[in-house]
Amino acid sequence: MQIQDHSAAHIHTTVTASAYIADDWAQSSARTRALLLRALASALDIERETLVRIAAEETSLGSARLHGEIDRTRFQLNGFADYVEAGHAFALTDDPALAEAPPAGRPHLSRVRIPLGPVAMFSASNFPFAFSVLGGDTASALAAGCPVVVKAHPGHPKLSRKVFELARAVIAGQGLSAALLGMVEGAGIEVGTELVNHPDIAAVAFTGSFKGGAALWRLANARARPIAFYGELGSINPVVALPAALATQAQALAQTLAASIEFGCGQVCTSPGLVVLFEGADAQRFEDTLRDELREKPTHRMLTPAMKRTFDAGVARLLGTPGVQTLLAGSADHDETAPPRPVLARTSAKHFIATPALHEEIFGPACLIVRVGSTDEIVDVLGAIGGSLTVTLWGADEDTPDVRRVARRATQIAGRVLFSGVPTGVAVTRSQQHGGPWPASTQPFTTSVGYEALERFLRPVALQSAPAWLSARAGQPC
Ligand code: NAP
Repeated sequence: MQIQDHSAAHIHTTVTASAYIADDWAQSSARTRALLLRALASALDIERETLVRIAAEETSLGSARLHGEIDRTRFQLNGFADYVEAGHAFALTDDPALAEAPPAGRPHLSRVRIPLGPVAMFSASNFPFAFSVLGGDTASALAAGCPVVVKAHPGHPKLSRKVFELARAVIAGQGLSAALLGMVEGAGIEVGTELVNHPDIAAVAFTGSFKGGAALWRLANARARPIAFYGELGSINPVVALPAALATQAQALAQTLAASIEFGCGQVCTSPGLVVLFEGADAQRFEDTLRDELREKPTHRMLTPAMKRTFDAGVARLLGTPGVQTLLAGSADHDETAPPRPVLARTSAKHFIATPALHEEIFGPACLIVRVGSTDEIVDVLGAIGGSLTVTLWGADEDTPDVRRVARRATQIAGRVLFSGVPTGVAVTRSQQHGGPWPASTQPFTTSVGYEALERFLRPVALQSAPAWLSARAGQPC
C-alpha cells in the first residue's frame, strides 16, 4: 500500500483545525466523552473481521493475536469511558478560606486540572490496534479533554486509514467536530518533525524506538516553546531467576520464558531480552531447557523488512561481541522477508557490565543469559542497564537482606517489577505503570498504559477565590 507523504500545508491545516476545537472539547462533559469512547469501542467490534484481515496482511501478526488486541483496545476505550464518568478527569482538591491561617489568613483555593490542547500521537508498528490510531494514547488524551492528531505508522497504512475513517464516522454520528481526531501520514521523518514543531501542538505521545523517540524528544525540547514529550521507548526487560526459583521449577520457568521471548516474534516492548542466572547445575538445566524450547518455536515474518534488517544487525553485533557465547545462532540467510529464528547467547556479569552495546534492545526473538556469582553482581548488572520498562524477579518469596537488595535495585531501574510470570502482557488497570527510567521512557513518572495515563494531558491550575459559577463546575474546565 502506497504511503502518502502529507505536505507541511496538510499538517498545518490538520493541526490548526484541532487547535480550533480544543476549547470546546476541554469543556465537554464526562457523559459526552464517555459516549464517544464507548461508540469508538463498539465500532471496532462491528468492523473487527475487516480490520483483522487488513491488519494480518500488513503486520503478519496472525488473526488470533489481532482479535485479542482488538478486545484489549475496546476494553481500554470502555475503561476510559468508565474512568471519566467516575469523575477522575475533573478531580480537584479544595481548601476553604481560613481566617486563622498564619500570618494573615488564607483565601479559598481549588486545585483543578485543565487539558493541555492538541496532542500529537505517534503510533507504534507492533500493536496496530492497542498502540495505534485508537490505542491507549488516543483514548487517554480524548478522555482528558484533548483533541488528537495521529501520526500513522508506515508499517500499517491501510489499517490506519480504515480505523481513522471508522473513527471519523463515529465522531460525526455523535454530532462532534471531525477535527477531534486528525491523522497525518509519511514514510520519512519529515512528517513527524513537522508535527512536533507545529506551534499549536501542546504535547506529544510517542511509542516506538529509542532512536526515533530520543530524536523527537530533543526536537520537542528545542522548540521556541518546549512541550511535554511522553516517549515510551525500547527496553531489555531483565528476568532475574534467584536460586530459590530454579531449585524447584527450572524447567517449567524456562518453558514459560521461551513462550514470552517468542511472543509476537519478540517484537514487543516488554519482551525479555536478558536473563540473570546464578552459576550452578540448576542454571544449566534452565539454560538447556530454554535453548531447546526456543529452537522448536515457530516464528513468523517480522513487521517490516527494515525491522528484520535491524534484528539481523543486532544479532550479528551480539554474537560477535568478545566474551559472548552463542547457544542458538538464529538463521544465517539474512533474507528480510523470511521469519527470523530465535537467538540465545550467554555472557558473564563482568563482560555484560563492561560492554554498553550489550545493554541495548534487540527488537525480535533474541535473549542474552548473564551468569552471575553473587548478589553484588546481580545488583551491578541491573545497575548497568539503568532503565527498563520491567524487571522480573523469580524466587524472592523469603525476606532476606540479599533478596531485599535485589528487589530494591529492581524498583530503582524499572517501572514495573514482577514477582511471578513473564513481562509480556500489560494489564490495563489503574495501578499499572508502563514507563521506566531513561532509556525506557522519557517521562518515567507517568504511565502510557492504564487509566492514570490520562494525567499526562492535564495541567494543574490553582483557582484562588474563584467566583461561585466557576466553583460550581466542580473541576470541569470552563
Ligand atoms: P519507530 O521506528 O521509532 O517508529 C515510530 C514512529 O516514529 C514512526 O511513525 C516513525 O515514522 C516515527 N519516527 C521514528 N524516528 C523518527 C524521527 N527521527 N523523526 C521523526 N519521526 C520519527 O518505532 P517502531 O517502528 O514502532 O519500532 C518498535 C520500537 O518501539 C521498539 O523499540 C519497541 O520496543 C518500541 N515500543 C515501545 C513500546 C512502549 O510502550 N514502551 C510499545 C511498543 C513498541 P517513520 O517510520 O515514518 O520515520
